[in-house]
Formats: sequence, C-alpha cells, structure tokens
Amino acid sequence: MADLVLQDVRKRFGKTEVIHGVDLEVKDGEFVVFVGPSGCGKSTLLRMIAGLEEVSGGDVVIGGERMNEITPSDRGIAMVFQSYALYPHKDVYGNMAFALRHAGEDKALIDERVRKAADILGLEPLLKRRPKELSGGQRQRVAIGRAIVRDPAIFLFDEPLSNLDAALRVQMRVEILRLHQRLKTTMVYVTHDQVEAMTLADRIVVLRDGRIEQVGTPLELYHHPKNRFVAGFIGSPR
Ligand code: ADP
Ligand code: MG
Repeated sequence: MADLVLQDVRKRFGKTEVIHGVDLEVKDGEFVVFVGPSGCGKSTLLRMIAGLEEVSGGDVVIGGERMNEITPSDRGIAMVFQSYALYPHKDVYGNMAFALRHAGEDKALIDERVRKAADILGLEPLLKRRPKELSGGQRQRVAIGRAIVRDPAIFLFDEPLSNLDAALRVQMRVEILRLHQRLKTTMVYVTHDQVEAMTLADRIVVLRDGRIEQVGTPLELYHHPKNRFVAGFIGSPR
C-alpha cells in the first residue's frame, strides 16, 4: 500500500493557481526527492502534505486516510526546515523534548525517545548545551532530532542543508541517508541541489511551474530525461 498519495492536488493563492493538479504515490519506506527551480511549488506541496497549507483541490491521503481536514499534529508527520529555529534558552535535550512535553507525554517515554535520537545523531555529548554553543551542523542535527523524537510515519524535509557550507552538506547528506536506512521511514525531501537528489532519492520528482514534469529513479532520469528541462536538472549532458 502506498503510504502517501496525492490525488489531483491543487493550490490557489487568491486567484492564482500555483499547483495545478499533482498526482503521486509514495510507497511505505520510500525516499522521494522533489527537485525543481525556485518558485515551482516544492515548499507549497510539502506544506500541503504537512497540513500547514490547505489544499484548494484534490486529496492528501496518508496510510489510506484522507488528511484534508486533519490538523498537522495529527497527521503522523514531522517536518525539518532550512531555518531550524531552536529555542535559545533551552538546552539540546530541552529542544528535542519540547514537542513531547507539550503533548503531555510521560517522562520515561520522552527520555527514551530523546536518548535514542541523540544516539542516532551523535548528540549525546551535547545534550546540556544551548544552541549558541553549537556549530551549524550540530544545530541542524538537533532540528532533525526534534523530528525523530516524534516517531513520525513520514519525514518531510524542506531544503534542510541549504544554509550549511559545502563540506558540512556532504556530511549531513550521509547522515540523512543513514537515518533513512536505520528508521526505514517514508521521507519526502525538497532540494534544488542535483547531487543531493541523486544521492538520496529512491525516486526523484521533477517539478516545473506547479506540475510534475517527470518521476523516476535517479538513473532513469539521468539516462532518459524526457526533455531538456529535466536534463538540465539531472540528465546526462548531451
Ligand atoms: P519553491 O519552494 O519551489 O521555491 P514555493 O512553493 O515557495 O516554491 O512557491 C510556489 C509559488 O507559489 C511561487 O510562485 C510563490 O510566489 C507562490 N506562493 C507561495 N506561497 C505563497 C503565499 N503564501 N501567497 C501567495 N503566493 C505564494
Ligand atoms: Mg521552497
């Protein structure tokens, strides 16, 4: 069964339609990457999956259940953004525990989840540090940790590495792959970085002006881009 299904999903802002009917099935455990130029609708699509933005038409279905009227916190998803606003006065532990404490989870469960996430991300030695005492990469790890502790069925990432320098981006890419291998959770990841898409994705979805231009594995798109637009993003030079 597909874990995430988009059926003719549309988005209008005022009178302007920016997502023009997107159909997509993401399988349970699949790592799908959305690529496309700035303004093509990647973030809007992700925000509709998360429930942070209402759909203007069509359905978002997760685990067989129609999500259109379900609030973000009840969708079983967790989202990691490019700007990882951490709470400056809470330590790493407090930042990761916050959502669970807010939801009234019990202490033992919170502790177990936070320590497991810290273990996965190599954050154990840093649990008592404040965000200002962390490097950019460590902060981004905490932001990912905050998503992990919620034990989501689906992770959504919106250009999570674009604020990091090149060396760190490579390192974090490897960590995100390891995270996927370890948790085997469905992941939908937005980037405009072709190398990130090629290395992370089971399947790449190429978006253009609010429509899907092509969907395929990295190798399919690389060797058989359907047109110059796709080739410009991931195809082999010709
Ligand atoms: P991407 O993430 O691919 O750069 P976005 O999803 O942010 O693209 O934007 C897609 C289109 O929707 C753009 O034309 C953008 O200007 C427009 N848009 C996004 N959010 C809003 C909004 N809140 N109000 C009006 N237009 C918006
Ligand atoms: Mg965006």
